[in-house]
Amino acid sequence: MGTAPRCRSCRARTGHLVLDLGLQPACDYFPRCDSPGPDPDYPLQMWLCSACGLAQLVADPTVPEEPKGAEPAALIAQAADAVAAAEAAGFLRSGGKVAEYGSPHGGSWLGLLADLGLAPVRDGEPADVVVDCFGLMHAADQAAALAERAARVAEGGVLLLQYHSLDAVIRHGQWNVLRHGHYAYYSTTALVTMLGAAGLRAESAWAFGLYGGTILLAASRNTAGAAPAAQSVWSLLAEDARVGVCDQAAVAGLQRDCRAHADGLRTWLRAERTAGRTVLGYGAASRAVALLRLAGIDNALLPAIVDASPAKQGRRMPGTDIPVVHPAELGARLPGAVLLFLADLRAEVRASYPEVEAAGGRWVDADALSSRHHDASGCLQHEPEPLQAPAPGRADAADRQS
Ligand SMILES: [Zn+2]
Repeated sequence: MGTAPRCRSCRARTGHLVLDLGLQPACDYFPRCDSPGPDPDYPLQMWLCSACGLAQLVADPTVPEEPKGAEPAALIAQAADAVAAAEAAGFLRSGGKVAEYGSPHGGSWLGLLADLGLAPVRDGEPADVVVDCFGLMHAADQAAALAERAARVAEGGVLLLQYHSLDAVIRHGQWNVLRHGHYAYYSTTALVTMLGAAGLRAESAWAFGLYGGTILLAASRNTAGAAPAAQSVWSLLAEDARVGVCDQAAVAGLQRDCRAHADGLRTWLRAERTAGRTVLGYGAASRAVALLRLAGIDNALLPAIVDASPAKQGRRMPGTDIPVVHPAELGARLPGAVLLFLADLRAEVRASYPEVEAAGGRWVDADALSSRHHDASGCLQHEPEPLQAPAPGRADAADRQS
């Protein structure tokens, strides 16, 4: 860790470390259960560029594995909503050509766009609609990746960028979005600056509830006759300013959120064990890896995590000894509580595994265990145990939310 970070977008070297999760295993590599560990670990840090405002991963020595899990219904529903919004605004015209930059996590829009009469172009060809749905964040060189996408926007065309917005990450205390392989964490403010550098200007935007705050931004070429940004864009910029997405102190609040979350999880699991209740996890998500590690959770407190992806079964969570097991274990073990690591799956899993609640078990949102600062949409089914000592500065975080 010798030299100061250099911005992945504007190349500036001035900025601040805003979140440091210490040494973490690669969250996308699930070792076999018979692999004893310890797993190799690497620094995991977020840096906020003072020049362009882009929050970003400092260094990434890991090799991406990105095992494709089952595509969540929430992501599929979101794609349909986003495409409908873009179509209603006139950005998706039948007969147009589309280029898609996909995410390794799935969620392609090409099927939906084909239904509207848009056909894909070949690699590298220009297109009327260039779509990037959670793809751009996987590029280590942000400036180059955005320039490549911008260059493919045909005359009169549009770039549709969808991202989990940093203002939502801050408002909901979603510190565990930080992971190896995800190089950028966009605020609309930073993205508008990045688009400008790539010769594009933001035109319209739509906000969705996915992940607590997902934005679809439409950008076109920054020509003399380009349309001015719609009110929807200005509203997002105003909200960014209110939350403080470019303010190192506001973004660094994620460090407090992280400690409170880890403390809350550990306290709750210990209380469940003391009460003699069996707890299983659900969702061997990459975002659960750092949480389990920071909270020091092993299989004595959480004996297994259920996941529907066959690729993860028979393996264990990185950095701990908790095995990943088949969903049939929910019916076999009849846990008193299932700790849900992917809140967006709540409706899906409740419908898929009625045996849990039929046997008196309950679904508990792991994100809601982080002291008082939980997502308003978290629908707590269980009041988390109070923390032993409230972390200092929690009131500030709550203020930011109100
Ligand atoms: Zn920068």
